[in-house]
Amino acid sequence: MSLKDKVAVITGAASGIGEHCARTFASQGAAVVIADLNLANAGKVANSIVAAGGKALAVAMDVTNEEAVNAGIDEAAKVFGGIDVLVSNAGIQIISPVDEFPFADWKKMLAIHLDGAFLTTKAALKHMYGSGKGGSIVYMGSVHSHEASKLKAAYVTAKHGLLGLARVVAKEGGPRGVRANVVCPGFVRTPLVDKQIPEQAKALGISEADVVKNVMLKDTVDGEFTSLDDVANTVAFLAGFGSAALTGQSVLVTHGWSMH
Ligand code: NAD
Repeated sequence: MSLKDKVAVITGAASGIGEHCARTFASQGAAVVIADLNLANAGKVANSIVAAGGKALAVAMDVTNEEAVNAGIDEAAKVFGGIDVLVSNAGIQIISPVDEFPFADWKKMLAIHLDGAFLTTKAALKHMYGSGKGGSIVYMGSVHSHEASKLKAAYVTAKHGLLGLARVVAKEGGPRGVRANVVCPGFVRTPLVDKQIPEQAKALGISEADVVKNVMLKDTVDGEFTSLDDVANTVAFLAGFGSAALTGQSVLVTHGWSMH
């Protein structure tokens, strides 16, 4: 199976990893749905993909809002004739020590990462099961699906949770032709990470250079950031894989930081 002529909904695709996945999928012949809270940026990404000869649609979607998710996925299916792939990628980061973590921030984190993954999965499955063609779901996990770091209780909890969701979807979806996998990147230079460097420097009382060298990349084999291409190519590989030999898996793309 390749991504050619497949319809892929990618959440959080107006920026960073999601945007790069959308461009990679489009270059491999998929019609991509750029689903994001930020409709203006989603529109810009979709327009530039279309200008380059690809197929793309921008859809306003807050992944924590059930009606918005259902409406966005249904619109995508109507415009492109179905849903073959979901990349559940939208995410944010809020850091704090556990004993000071504001409950509202905890709930916001779990809502975006876990409610968002659940709601988009449920809405996409309706079309994947309904068409009888099945499909493929890729969750954007993290090295923090397998490892823990200080200050990231909500993020680590949510990213571990995605492994559970993917495994259940893999089991339930298997007989109906739906695969589910998790891609787990190490640090990638996106707006999400750029925001964290000064925040962590302040919280840990160290310089920004030390955050990069001694916190973020400390456990990699080569001190390198993971690239957008590394992540998008892995997502495309899993999304387009031709059988259920690869389902319920998580693939770490971390320069050796984690080796599960
Ligand atoms: P980013 O900030 O560049 O992009 C995130 C996108 O998600 C933005 O366009 C934002 O508008 C959108 N978004 C936020 N809340 C949303 C909501 N409620 N509904 C819909 N869209 C929403 O971030 P990124 O670094 O590209 O991160 C994307 C995903 O990759 C996240 O799940 C993140 O946890 C994961 N990840 C990132 C890294 C990294 O180092 N950047 C590493 C591992 C995993």
